[in-house]
Amino acid sequence: MSVAALVMGAGRGLRLGGDEPKQYRMLGSTSVLARSLALFATHPRVTRVQAVIGEDDRDAYARATAALDLPMPTIGGATRQESVRNGLEHLAGDPPDFVLIHDAARPMTPPSVIDRVIEALAAHPAAVPALPVADTLKRGADGRVVATVPRAGLFRAQTPQGFRFAEILAAHRRFAGSEMTDDAAVAEAAGLPVALVAGDEAAFKITTGDDLDRARRLSGESRTGTGFDVHRFGEGDHVWLCGVRLPHERGLIGHSDADVGLHALTDAILGAIGAGDIGLHFPPSDPKWKGAASSRFLAYAADLVRTRGGRVVHVDVTVICERPKVGPHREAMRSAIAQILSVEVDRVSVKATTTEGLGFTGRSEGIAAQASATVVL
Ligand code: MG
Repeated sequence: MSVAALVMGAGRGLRLGGDEPKQYRMLGSTSVLARSLALFATHPRVTRVQAVIGEDDRDAYARATAALDLPMPTIGGATRQESVRNGLEHLAGDPPDFVLIHDAARPMTPPSVIDRVIEALAAHPAAVPALPVADTLKRGADGRVVATVPRAGLFRAQTPQGFRFAEILAAHRRFAGSEMTDDAAVAEAAGLPVALVAGDEAAFKITTGDDLDRARRLSGESRTGTGFDVHRFGEGDHVWLCGVRLPHERGLIGHSDADVGLHALTDAILGAIGAGDIGLHFPPSDPKWKGAASSRFLAYAADLVRTRGGRVVHVDVTVICERPKVGPHREAMRSAIAQILSVEVDRVSVKATTTEGLGFTGRSEGIAAQASATVVL
């Protein structure tokens, strides 16, 4: 069975503001349209993907889809229905068995929805993913409720809507010139039975700025880095540990303030964005960093993440030593790290362990620390 996907990105959709159609807005490193196309290009049961775009958007399309191996786009018409018909006519040169017609503005649609629509087409000429209406519906006029509309049996239709190709092509030809808001309506007008399959809240349509923010939150790419550091005990009467100064009978030796916890954490954050390690950015050979507060290193790494359009979502530091005891200072350490990173305290974890008297930490020759950092880009 051949399954073609027609991804509709011809609308102007300027309700979001700005003069750029919403399908070319970015979700992290990819556009809304490219992400919608990729839903089908990477789906194992979809054999062909065809975009339908606006006349003026050829350049924007070429830029947005450079990373995808796709055929030339079809140019849409004056209405959505005309644009779909253009796409169907284009596919008719080499007609597929089934066609899935999808709004480019629904880039977060889960693959399971696509599967359900394709499966339904084995038994039905048309299938629509939909969710039952949960809110009470009101008819209103002039700012007042006119009536309460019974919601029983009402559904919100989503996309992709699936069809047997020959039948939906015939229906679109027959009803050319009308302005129906989805393709199921065209199928219904032609008398085709349309099956309902379960939709998904994640298949929401981007209409407002809030929707775009929601899609961005859902589409963020998560990366994790790890760090490890050791400093040796020497002369002194205090140590810096995870941004907190602790009185101690010995100090830690290092070029900077030797805060082993913040060093491990700085490396973890640099690791998450593939930006080398702390020694690369703050060479110990550079006298500038002599005695430097390690909070500067950590703040620098967090700034690098922000510069790349990302944010630190979670960090976890484990301090490994017999003494000083970390427990009484844990909350102060979490607060210090949260402040340096400009994140909420609940995104920061500080833990401690001993090595049961074994090894250099067990002999209290030094302190080790390891850390992990999760960033979303
Ligand atoms: Mg160090």
